Parts: sequence; structure tokens; C-alpha cells
Amino acid sequence: MDNIYKAVGYVRLSREDGDNLESESIYNQKQLIKQFVNDRNIILKQFFVDDGFSGGNFNRPAFKEMINYLEKDQANMVITKDLSRLGRDYIGTGFYLEHYFPEHRIRYYAILDCFDSFDSTTTDMTPIKVGLNDMYAKDISKKVRSALYSKKRHGFYTGSIACFGYLKDPLNKGLLIVDPKTEPIVKLIYQLFINGKTTGEIAQILTTSKKPTPIMRMGNNRIKNLKNPAIWNSQSVRAILQNEMLTGTLIQGKSQNVSYKSKKRQYINKKNWIICPNNHPAIISRDVFNLVQKRLIKRKHRNSNNKSLLLSGLLYCFECHSTIGLQYRNNGKLITTVCNYYKKNSKQKLCSAHYYHYDQIEKIITNKLQLLLNDNKIKNQLNQALKQIFNSYQIKLKKIKTDINKKINLYKKKLDILYEDRLDEIISYDFYLKKKKEIIDEIEILKLNKMQYSSSLTLIDLKAKISLILSSLSKDLIARLINRIEISELGEIRVFYQFK
Ligand SMILES: [Zn+2]
Repeated sequence: MDNIYKAVGYVRLSREDGDNLESESIYNQKQLIKQFVNDRNIILKQFFVDDGFSGGNFNRPAFKEMINYLEKDQANMVITKDLSRLGRDYIGTGFYLEHYFPEHRIRYYAILDCFDSFDSTTTDMTPIKVGLNDMYAKDISKKVRSALYSKKRHGFYTGSIACFGYLKDPLNKGLLIVDPKTEPIVKLIYQLFINGKTTGEIAQILTTSKKPTPIMRMGNNRIKNLKNPAIWNSQSVRAILQNEMLTGTLIQGKSQNVSYKSKKRQYINKKNWIICPNNHPAIISRDVFNLVQKRLIKRKHRNSNNKSLLLSGLLYCFECHSTIGLQYRNNGKLITTVCNYYKKNSKQKLCSAHYYHYDQIEKIITNKLQLLLNDNKIKNQLNQALKQIFNSYQIKLKKIKTDINKKINLYKKKLDILYEDRLDEIISYDFYLKKKKEIIDEIEILKLNKMQYSSSLTLIDLKAKISLILSSLSKDLIARLINRIEISELGEIRVFYQFK
């Protein structure tokens, strides 16, 4: 550290991520950063504080303010307590660590992780740590959300049958719980679609692997009149891909009876739907759901025989901004690109052909991405980092469980007091019954919450997920990394990433 650095401290706290509100408190984070700065050649210019913002994305006001500040050259160093304060999202955090900060010559330091972006020996492990933080955040936020939903109980599901992927809670009729039998089918459908399969192909896969259809779940009355209830079709797959309920949002009141005499139903304008976000446990994350909706629209317009190519659906014309299509030549041995606008209007010469070999473009892009994800030395050090993060994750879970137990005991004590009050005839019998039921209900909810936390990620799950992320450039990973690729008339390729 020869230069004197002008630094900013970035501080973040989120209940949603399951942060320990004491040890991670804004005050403690600031103290740690102040201490760190004290015995070094660093001038701390100011703090940027995001209180109540998840690390799962970068849509945070103080973070954006900080980036603005940095771009005005007001500081050349960013300090956080640890990497997870910067972000828990694998791709976004990687972008800042590996691209944004280096390109802007900004030094980034994470105190507890001993991470220094100017010291290459400390940076090797970063992609792994960030990846694990990402998974950890998803798991925790799922649990916190389901805890919230149980507590509030504001959205009651009034349908007669739960939608595919859920069951009506036998203890609490208005609530939805995840159906262990159909949840994996829902997830499989989304995975296959993201990997490039069409709805028709997915239906075929589900039918041959004998997965139960939504119709079959509805019971005997409805199946009676159907020829083949066990056969999936592309409409039923599409309905699941478009079902926003799977993200944990309760949507009701889409239609209503025309009048009390008529059974005919009328469709209601979307703005009058009853929508309760975070109502029940999500099976599909909001990000994945939105990605799929975008793809569903795109695919309608797409040539059906290029669906499995890595870059299909991502290529655009730099000059006219329309999509770039793919053409198969020599019985599919050669694939070439063409500007779709040019193709449609070739006589008017509105754009030019943009004729290139697809394989070459794919190679250039995958090379770029490999560099981005650079993962060479990392696998050896994986185990150690895994254990470290897994342990801290277990400690947090344990703390949450102890907290729930404490609350349960508190309610049990209240029950005792209530009982004594009734014996002493301080309260009426009706009041006693009413209060007793309230307290027992609360205890039941807490017990349910505890159950959610006991089915936590295992070390093996974590290992499998991280190696999956790093192992290959799947269509899924590419779609998460790249928003669009533009090809110019002269063959220049511009990549626009999903992050930033
Ligand atoms: Zn064009």
C-alpha cells in the first residue's frame, strides 16, 4: 500500500437474507471498517448504507449512489465487512469483482474474507465464495419468506383444488403447501424449457416417463370422459410455464360469475385481480419465471429447428436491431446467420445479409465466457471453502431454530397463565376458550416453521450445485449471463450481459 487511498465503506443489512441483526448490524459493520482504515494509509470519505436490501441483486439505492460517486472519481477504493455484504448473487458480484472494479482501477477490500482485489493471491477463491453465497441466499430467503407467509396468513386460497405443484394445507384449508409429488415435475418442466426444449417436446418427455398429468390429479369425475388422461400436451405444459402462482404469489379473482343466476364466467381486467406476493412457498424463483416469460414470447417467432443451439434466441442485428435468424445448409452441416429484417424485405434492400458461420460466432462467445468464469485453480480449493461456508450456514440455521423454540416456550407459559387466570375466575370461560385457541394456533404455525428449517441444504447438495454451475457452459448458464449479442455488417460481435 504505497498510495494513499480515498475509500468509501459499503454497508448492507437484510432480514430477508437471514442476516443476524446484531452481529451484522449497520453500526458493527461501520465500526469494523473504521478500525480497518485507522492503521492504514486510507482516508475514509463516506459510508453508503443499504438497510433492508437483499444481496440477491444490485437494485439497491445506496449501492447505485456509490457507483455514481466512484464514477465521479471521488474515491478509488471500496471496503466492506465481507464479500456477502457486496452481494450474494453469483453473476452480478462476479461482474463487479472481475470487471467493473479492475476496469475503473478501484481497489476492493472485504475485511473478514481478507479479499484484496489488488492482491492476486487472495482473489483465486472468489468465484467459489460468491457462488456459495448466492445459493445460500436463495435457500435462506425461501425459508424466511415461508416463515413470513405463515405469520401473516393474509392470502387465503379459495380454489377447490390447489394448482399443480401445491396441495391445500390439511391443517389450514386456506393455505397452500408444496406438494412433494408434483413439485419435481414443475421444476423439471422449467429446467427443460430453459435448456431449449419446446413445450411439445417437454410434453413428450413427461408422457414417456409416466409423470402424472394435472387432469389426473383432479380426481375420478373429470377423468371419466377423457380418452387419455395420462398424456401430456403442449397446452398443459405451457399453462404451467405461465402460472405465476408458482412464484409464491397468490392470484385470485381472475374471473367472476356474470350474475348469481348464471354459471357463465367473465374474465376480469388484470388490474382488478387480487394479488398477494410472498403468500406461499415459491417453487420457481421470480428470476426464472420472468426469464421463461420472455422466452415464451420470443419462441413464438422462432424457427423451430434451431432451438437447441447455445446462442439461439440471443442474436440481434447491430444495424437494424431486428433478430438474427439461423439457416441450415448442406443438410444441417453448415449453419449460417441472416438478418431477419433483410430476409423478409430482401427486394427492398432495407438491411444487409449479415451472413456468417454460426459455429465461429459460438466459439468466440464461449471463449469469452470461459475467461469470465475462469475456474482453473479453483476446484482444488473448493472443499475447504465449502466447509467454511457450510458451517456458518449451519450456525445460522441453528440459531433460527433456537429462536423458534424460545417463542414456543413463551406461548406455552402464556397458556399456563391463562389457565390459572381461568381457575381464579379472573376471566370468563368464553374469553378463556378464545385466547386458548389463538395461542394454540400460533404454536402450530411456529411448529410448521421449524419443520421448514429442518429440511435444509446438505453439504452434498451444495457441492453438486456449485460443480454444476462451473462444469459447463449450458444454455441455461448462457441465458443467465447474456442478454443479447449484436452482430454488425462487418462481423463485429458485441455482447450485452444480464448484469449491470
Ligand atoms: Zn439488420
